[in-house]
Amino acid sequence: MQLAERIINSKDAGLGNLLAAPKQNQVSFAGGLPDPDLFPQRELNAGFNRALASTTAALQYSSAAGYQPLRKQLAARLVADGVPASTESVLITQGAQQALDLIGRLVLDPGARVIVEGPTYPGALAALGTYEPEFCTIPVHDDGMDMAQVAATLARGGVRLIYTVPDFQNPTGTVMSLAKRQQLLALARKYDVLVLEDAPYRALRYRGTNLPTLRQLDQDDHVLHVGSFSKILAPGLRLGWVTGAQHIIDQLVQLKSNSDLESSTLTQRAVSEYLAHNDLDAHIKVLRRNYARKCKTMVTGLQRQLPASVHISDPAGGFFVWLELPAGINSETVLAQVQDRVTFVPSTTLYPDQNVKNGMRLAFTNPDEAAIRRGCRELAAGINKAMRV
Ligand code: PMP
Repeated sequence: MQLAERIINSKDAGLGNLLAAPKQNQVSFAGGLPDPDLFPQRELNAGFNRALASTTAALQYSSAAGYQPLRKQLAARLVADGVPASTESVLITQGAQQALDLIGRLVLDPGARVIVEGPTYPGALAALGTYEPEFCTIPVHDDGMDMAQVAATLARGGVRLIYTVPDFQNPTGTVMSLAKRQQLLALARKYDVLVLEDAPYRALRYRGTNLPTLRQLDQDDHVLHVGSFSKILAPGLRLGWVTGAQHIIDQLVQLKSNSDLESSTLTQRAVSEYLAHNDLDAHIKVLRRNYARKCKTMVTGLQRQLPASVHISDPAGGFFVWLELPAGINSETVLAQVQDRVTFVPSTTLYPDQNVKNGMRLAFTNPDEAAIRRGCRELAAGINKAMRV
């Protein structure tokens, strides 16, 4: 049986493994899983009950763009965050992940260039990689992508898409500065290139205040802004959204329709009911308080046990702590040593060329505090041992 060339040439991104539940006695810092104790299970249950009790429409086909009242609620939330949006310009997707796939489908031909941050979210490399682009990796500094390298890459030509996570980047946790946001938009305008602003962690800030989104600063419709309920409500809902220029959203609606007809009507109605009867922002405040504490437990635990030659990030939000080991120390080797006790994502997975070996992504949101402390002890012991030999 002959498979498509693009499948034969593709490698398994390993995303399924990332999201698997940890084995017994193993602490997982690997997948970006929320804390299940913080899911508003009762309130969502009530939302599903209301959606099902009121009408059979929750069980019927509805529309590719999404359930209108939910789009309206999302548009209002986006506007409150400074993002220009209307009910019509919000497309509901099957998680943010589907938005990445549809945007790739819209703009990428094989060989087209895509600018990505290095390191970046492996799911973006997997989704966009389906369309066989050439990834151009731009290093991430404390204040975001290196703009001189973005400019140089754009000047070489052939770039169709710039993928960025400006708020609490996956995996480095960095926030793109206002100056860099403005530079990036000026470059997008100059070269007429689409920017994919992936913002699932934006609401999860633990200190300081948010900067305007790229979409808010976007004067001439070069930005698509993607969000998700996965980190602020529950990933099992599989609900995300994308907003941007109406003509692009209209094309994405068409692609979504071709792909899966529409997202689950029942789930969209249930979440719409949840939003109508609960204060999502109050829930997010609870998440922020809890995750801030877990983040501090991880950062201080690692700082106490690792030498100064290991760089430990101290993120102001999001899900991840990022470690940089001294050059020459391979995080995959460390993983092989410790993985019965603690797991994480080695940096090779987070670069298109898999060529950077000394980084580690540690998600702190899912394990409880005792497990975080235990995982940090095991991890630090493994790293210290690797640095001694
Ligand atoms: N973008 C980023 C940066 C992510 O970290 C994730 C999830 N880990 C996603 C998109 C996909 O999220 P969703 O569950 O909404 O599909």
